[in-house]
Amino acid sequence: MATPTAIVAGNWKMNGVQASIEELKSLQKLLEIKPKACCDILICPPFTLLTGFAAVSGEMIAIGAQDCHTATSGAHTGDISAGMIADAGAGYVIVGHSERRSNHGETSDLVASKATAAQSADLKAIICVGESEAERDAGKTLSVVLDQLTNSIPETATAQNTVIAYEPVWAIGTGRTPTPQDVADVHAAIRASLQDRFGKDGAGVPILYGGSVKPSNALELMAVENVDGALVGGASLKATDFDGIIDAYRK
Ligand code: PEP
Repeated sequence: MATPTAIVAGNWKMNGVQASIEELKSLQKLLEIKPKACCDILICPPFTLLTGFAAVSGEMIAIGAQDCHTATSGAHTGDISAGMIADAGAGYVIVGHSERRSNHGETSDLVASKATAAQSADLKAIICVGESEAERDAGKTLSVVLDQLTNSIPETATAQNTVIAYEPVWAIGTGRTPTPQDVADVHAAIRASLQDRFGKDGAGVPILYGGSVKPSNALELMAVENVDGALVGGASLKATDFDGIIDAYRK
């Protein structure tokens, strides 16, 4: 299995209204005029913007959602199925983001079921894992991350339908990042675990780093071994900032 193609993914969280499509168009313009980057580019807006974004995103930008339900349809008020997300024109869905794990009590078992639902709908599941600050301080980073990883990835995972995002919870939206060596250690452990469980496929699953990635630190973080791209929150909302991160994949 070849080295995974890198992905620079933007998670817009609960930000954006119809007019925000102008930001997507600004990003498209930047991608058109600047040298081609050797990575896939993905924007994950709120559900309300999926259809509109997918309609204009074109070949250069993929569109994803930020969560899905485990069921295909039914009595689940307020929820959205993976099939609906695919129907809206998206190709990816984030599952198990730490904000969903903490704000909605999502367990790794539930995350695995959501990833299965995503894969069944032909979406790529971006499965998020990451330790809290207390867990890092207690020296439990690897055990927490590997436990989440094992229990959040379904048996159906392949290099084609699964992406992992390592996002230390304490680095999300804080401006703080782990050292490149810390990132390297966790990504190496994730890669080893994926290969143990999925063999050659495990070598092909992209492993993104997420947590306060911005134009000024992207090059250093993206150069770390086994880092196959970034999951970006705050800095994905402005086309120029997001494009500055994509610069890490331009020659
Ligand atoms: C995220 O929420 O996935 C994230 C990485 O956020 P930020 O880049 O703002 O830290």
